[in-house]
Amino acid sequence: MFILESAAQLEKAIIKAKKTRTQVKFIKFGVYSVKGSNGFYTVKCERGAHGEKMVSCDCKAGQSVKPLVCYHAVSALALHVGLARQRQTA
Ligand SMILES: [Zn+2]
Repeated sequence: MFILESAAQLEKAIIKAKKTRTQVKFIKFGVYSVKGSNGFYTVKCERGAHGEKMVSCDCKAGQSVKPLVCYHAVSALALHVGLARQRQTA
């Protein structure tokens, strides 16, 4: 799990996500299934107690002690942000 603080921390993962163009399945608002090299990973986008944006992915990179921002998380985030925006304007 990592806390999303700035777009800059996502840069590398965004580049990879664009190259990879992976498949993202909508499970429910905030929960997505993203295709990776070894099957599908579950990415959760949540709000913390203080409004922080928390993103978790169950791939190896997302589970390490110092979690990396993986391209699965970024791919799911792109969908999540779009959906969140629609909700706010609906
Ligand atoms: Zn991941």
